[in-house]
Amino acid sequence: MVATPLGNLGDLTLRAREILAAADIIAAEDTRRSQRLLDAFGISTRLVAVHQHNEEEGATRIVGWLDEGRQVALISDAGTPGISDPGARVVARVRAAGHPVTPVPGPCAAIAALSVAGLVEGGFRFVGFLPPKAGARQAALAELGDEGDALVFYEAPHRVEACVADMVAVFGPERELLVARELTKLHEEIALMALGAAPAWFGANPDRLRGEFVLVVRGAPTTRELSAEAIRVLDLLLAELPLKSAVRLAAEITGAAKNLLYSFALERRAGE
Ligand code: SAM
Repeated sequence: MVATPLGNLGDLTLRAREILAAADIIAAEDTRRSQRLLDAFGISTRLVAVHQHNEEEGATRIVGWLDEGRQVALISDAGTPGISDPGARVVARVRAAGHPVTPVPGPCAAIAALSVAGLVEGGFRFVGFLPPKAGARQAALAELGDEGDALVFYEAPHRVEACVADMVAVFGPERELLVARELTKLHEEIALMALGAAPAWFGANPDRLRGEFVLVVRGAPTTRELSAEAIRVLDLLLAELPLKSAVRLAAEITGAAKNLLYSFALERRAGE
């Protein structure tokens, strides 16, 4: 399983280059696209198409080649194969047939975005692509609402605005969002903002809706980060006041961070 560049050819590792050149066959998602990569490095290994629509049949052919003692490298269009990309089924089939499967690590869009997210708390949860339809997407986001670890999403350009709007609706406007657009490419853009500011950020420049996106949303503030006293005061105020006033007063009275109180209050209201 060989990782290939997300956009910048310089990111193909030395080992990936050697293995692609030495393999008997390269199984690729889109052979025309991968041919350009191979041409750039003067690699003439035979390419065959294994994509999501023929992955089962492709796996059978790959197992056949491996049985004959041939070496097969599998690549996807960009990044690490098997991560929101074809390949996972092939891995399972090849291993089940008794052949070893070896990773040749390298670029991965999710990891590249996380590396610049500054998540001092550490943990993250890879979600990948959300369902394309609004209802299913909102339901999937609602299920992730309590997750304390940062959430990592892949999203297509024509859906990114709708997806971010749903995130604001479900997670609230206070949580931090990292937009990582066109990583390693000419128009790379990395921006950190409160979720509530994201619709205006996208609206400010139509170019910001072009290209490929990773979205990282900071995890839900956990009750561990709020003192029992702050929660007690907030609960008392929430029983009497609108959410915003309750949060503002609780922050003034207890000194707790407003964004933590806000997210906690949203969760409380959602759970009622
Ligand atoms: N397996 C690949 C990986 O993990 O790097 C991802 C493949 S997935 C089919 C494609 C998605 O990865 C895109 O829709 C986008 O969300 C993300 N992606 C790929 N290249 C990117 C880039 N250069 N900048 C930002 N996101 C990228």
